[in-house]
Amino acid sequence: MLRRWLALPFVLLLVSAAPAQSQPDLPIFDAHIHYSQPDWAVYPPEEILKIFDRAGVRRALVSSTPDDGTLRLYEKAPARIVPELRPYRTRGDMASWHGDPAVLAYVEERLKRGIYKGIGEFHLFGGQTNTPVIRRIAELAVEKNLVLHAHSDEAAVEELFALNPKVKILWAHAGMSSGPEAIAKLLDRYPNLWAELAIRSDMASGGKLDPAWRALFLRHPDRIMVGTDTWVTSRWDALPGYLDEMRVWLRQLPREVAEKIAYRNAERLFGP
Ligand SMILES: [Zn+2]
Repeated sequence: MLRRWLALPFVLLLVSAAPAQSQPDLPIFDAHIHYSQPDWAVYPPEEILKIFDRAGVRRALVSSTPDDGTLRLYEKAPARIVPELRPYRTRGDMASWHGDPAVLAYVEERLKRGIYKGIGEFHLFGGQTNTPVIRRIAELAVEKNLVLHAHSDEAAVEELFALNPKVKILWAHAGMSSGPEAIAKLLDRYPNLWAELAIRSDMASGGKLDPAWRALFLRHPDRIMVGTDTWVTSRWDALPGYLDEMRVWLRQLPREVAEKIAYRNAERLFGP
């Protein structure tokens, strides 16, 4: 008994002396999570929430193919999961959804649930936006105050704003291959545009924040957020590591800017 009491302060000392790098000190709002069908058998919702705990993920923007995965997670932790409606009933919809009236009917029906904060993440590229389906989706988004989460090139972002200047767009992967200057240009031009950095690693090479990216973060500290993108099941196990890598460059920014990018911007966009 006595020994146990003596050991306790020593254990506490060890915990507090753990390297700062491994501590999830910067909470994260993960703005790019999928919980799609292949994930369900491997990680039930309780396991997903444990991964979020391990990774220091406070809240997450979640979509899935089909949508039922999002609902299962949301039911388990409604305060933590921000649901968005993905317009894909199966992976097969990914390439053709923008021209498919049946997808529109599916979206309109599911939105009646009234829980969603966004539509996406969807894939849409320049030249694909001017269809009755996309025009109506943009209209619905404005009507219901939903964010469009678009995996798009720069052209499609511009086309969406031209189609309906009132839409709010969260630009998935910040265009994946658009550089910091191009991202800044679009953010300058469209006040209703936000960008998230899932999958990207060009912000920092060898752990050192790139100066052009730093300039972007300081120019638009209020409209950039982080995410991981669990687009295949294997990414779930690696998620805490991905976010630790993000924290390495986030820590090289002023604390206030780092907190905005890590979670405050997403909290503001998606509300409590
Ligand atoms: Zn994705």
